[in-house]
Amino acid sequence: MKLARVCACTVALAASLSAAMAKPVATPTPLPRPFGRGHVWFHATAYAPYTFDDTIVRVHFDLARGIVYGDETAVVRPKRALRTLPFNTLGIHYQRVTVDGNPVRYAFDAARQLINVRLPALAAARKPLGVEFIYWVRPQRGVYFIRPDRGYPNIAPEIWSQGEMIDNRRWFPTWDEPNQKTPSELVVTVPRGWTVVANGYLKSHTHTASTETWDWNAPHPKSTYLIAFAAGPLSKHHTTLGQATDGNVAAFGNGSMDVDSYVQPRNANLNALCFGRTNAIVAYFQQIIGVKFPWEKYDQTTAERFTYGGMENASATIQTQLALHPTIEDSERPCDGLVAHELAHQWWGDDVTMADWSNTWINEGFATYFQELWSEHHFGEAEFEYERYQAQQAYFKETQQYYRPIVDYVYNDPLDLFDYRGGLLDRDWVARRGEDT
Ligand SMILES: [Zn+2]
Repeated sequence: MKLARVCACTVALAASLSAAMAKPVATPTPLPRPFGRGHVWFHATAYAPYTFDDTIVRVHFDLARGIVYGDETAVVRPKRALRTLPFNTLGIHYQRVTVDGNPVRYAFDAARQLINVRLPALAAARKPLGVEFIYWVRPQRGVYFIRPDRGYPNIAPEIWSQGEMIDNRRWFPTWDEPNQKTPSELVVTVPRGWTVVANGYLKSHTHTASTETWDWNAPHPKSTYLIAFAAGPLSKHHTTLGQATDGNVAAFGNGSMDVDSYVQPRNANLNALCFGRTNAIVAYFQQIIGVKFPWEKYDQTTAERFTYGGMENASATIQTQLALHPTIEDSERPCDGLVAHELAHQWWGDDVTMADWSNTWINEGFATYFQELWSEHHFGEAEFEYERYQAQQAYFKETQQYYRPIVDYVYNDPLDLFDYRGGLLDRDWVARRGEDT
């Protein structure tokens, strides 16, 4: 994930103001902002008592009222004999829950944000169980409804999701920790004329007179925070990886992989300028990592009013539409940093994932470092050094606000861990451990 640029500026401004106001004193001055807003507690790594065979989520919407109607089938295998199956959930209204087709009872654990599905009998270890949830939710986070309003009457409607860190539990029940991976399938029904982009490959696309349904299947297992979709009347720019002009593509045998980008129709002429070097960056990362791109295809979609700069959903990255810009601005603000960062996460974070949120820094550290390696490759050594300097300064400014360990299990919200600790990872760190590590 990459925070919007405005966040970095706000941190820098706050740090410079506090530095200007500081006076020399004999005793240490309390840091101006306590980590986690001063209310923090220990978070043990939580492991699911089951593994996933599959997670299939079918959704349709009431756009005007901001409601998600869901029908999910989670196929799980208990790790040991179980009476109860816990799933993270928040704000979802359940109409029916079944296990292997039979209605079952369930109870909520509000403090731990769980629905505990009660099994009619002790379930044997490793025997698959099909749990189906029929539900609806008007999510406060997780899924976002963009609609034209009095202030922005010309905006096109959109619906998109943002899971990281723990917001996917707000639109489908799941094990919402990074340590349990699942294949996934999203079947999304939207108004006729819309496009839906999601993880994996397009299994089917059907329509009625007023709706269309996009079925995206993603069999390669991923952590649940990486499951996402973006939907709206989008404009598509299609390429294949074989079009890359830079780096050793053919050696990895996926030259025909689709690499597509989707933007708002009014921005269609800005699409290729922002995302046109994606193929070259895929090829370069494959070459220096030595591992083929790990997913079925690579899509990038810009979302209106996106909550962050970008989010590396496996094979289906979503970025802010604010990244788009005309040619005259391209030398000042190319999309390469954002594109390379989210693309690097497809290996670092998506394919290889931390066990818990306390180790998020290593995801972000590698994504930031590889973003800088692309800058070195494409823009030169000086740009690499300048970006390293900026990443380190962001960390030093943060230490004027609060101190915390790099790996920290004592926090408030996992989003608090999403700061500039990753900027410390650099060439020396990698060199000391060996590039093979
Ligand atoms: Zn990131």
